[in-house]
Amino acid sequence: MLSVDQALTNVLTAFQRLSAESISIADGLGRVLAQDVISTHNLPPFPNSSMDGYAVRAADVAAASGNTPISLTVVGDIPAGIAPTVAVGTGRAARIMTGAMMPAGADAVVPVEQTTDAAFRSDNRPADPPSHISILQGVQVGDYVRPVGEDIHAGAVILHAGRVLRAADLGVLAGLGFTHVDVIRLPLVAVLSTGDELLTADQALEPGKIRDMNGYTITALVKGLGANAVFLGIARDTDADVRGKLQQAVDLHADLILSTAGVSVGAFDVVKSVIESMGSLGFWKVNMRPGKPLAFGQVQGIPFLGLPGNPVSAMVSFDVFAQAAILKLAGKNHQPRTDNAELAEAIRSDGRRTYMRVTLERKDGNLLAHSTGTQSSGALSSLVAADGLLIIPEGMTDVPAGTRLPVRVFAD
Ligand code: AMP
Ligand code: MG
Repeated sequence: MLSVDQALTNVLTAFQRLSAESISIADGLGRVLAQDVISTHNLPPFPNSSMDGYAVRAADVAAASGNTPISLTVVGDIPAGIAPTVAVGTGRAARIMTGAMMPAGADAVVPVEQTTDAAFRSDNRPADPPSHISILQGVQVGDYVRPVGEDIHAGAVILHAGRVLRAADLGVLAGLGFTHVDVIRLPLVAVLSTGDELLTADQALEPGKIRDMNGYTITALVKGLGANAVFLGIARDTDADVRGKLQQAVDLHADLILSTAGVSVGAFDVVKSVIESMGSLGFWKVNMRPGKPLAFGQVQGIPFLGLPGNPVSAMVSFDVFAQAAILKLAGKNHQPRTDNAELAEAIRSDGRRTYMRVTLERKDGNLLAHSTGTQSSGALSSLVAADGLLIIPEGMTDVPAGTRLPVRVFAD
């Protein structure tokens, strides 16, 4: 029997990062940068005021205080967005707004709160600045001035290839004038359920039939990774039906095909033989519980993962294998969220690597893991109730209460 780690290594060798595409930055959230982004200019591009106030020469007002105000002649008014046409000479000042470009000659800003400009403080501000302004506090060269390149220097690598774009990154790209960005293409994953017993969710139950759950869980797990999912529906346990669905996936140019069920040793498990006829298939028994059977191959060059049919096994196998493959296609580092938890009650394990469904409780700074009850691989309610999967390593059979083990924590 193959170990989980060996099976995962085998699976991952078949996947490469997808190619890049150019997209609008408006669509960039969560996408993976394909190459470094280098800033083409400084941000801010010009020195500007960080306060509403008066642009001055710091040396003129160094000695100013509330008791000894210094009066300056106001030579201009500089709103944000307008390049100044005045220069500030000795004994002069220009009224300036936050974000407005510093005028020539000025080297500091005195915030309006440190002047006698009453108009600034009233609700109905006059359009014109006063002819003179008294400065009540000295400033030093550079005070309240945002220098060129304070935020970003021209030529700097601002975002590195492989970065998963966040809101602030998109703002910086916009600020630098990048309307488009090269990102890794989103993986397209084709999902199908197989089984003669399966009905769709809207169909009435009949004796011997159950409704398809895996189509929904697996499609949602794919989408949860930020990839695109196409659910192809249910294939009956016939060569023709399975072949038809796989051909659809090929025609869609899927990057990965995920099926559930039909890969065990049952008499009607046709998926394996169909894959073999359309491509190639490896079939492993993986030393894990749940999810022992795992089929892996390719259909006309498209990687194929055949997950087990039992709903819990399908989801756990997805978590361990398909997730890693999809993230590799997407160019994302595969770092599942793991923590450590203490087992609340003693359990017995069968020596396989076991993914036990647990609820997690914080106690004295520790995570305490409780079984969600039935651990049947067919009981999907065990995953509904679970906060995570406690990982019991290979070879461990008697696990006493208090044992610290890794736990795969579900997001939120
Ligand atoms: P199989 O791998 O085909 O032997 O299926 C194993 C078990 O999983 C059987 O009990 C199936 O009825 C069940 N099963 C297979 N596919 C699904 C599905 N899509 N939704 C819910 N249960 C399923
Ligand atoms: Mg079956």
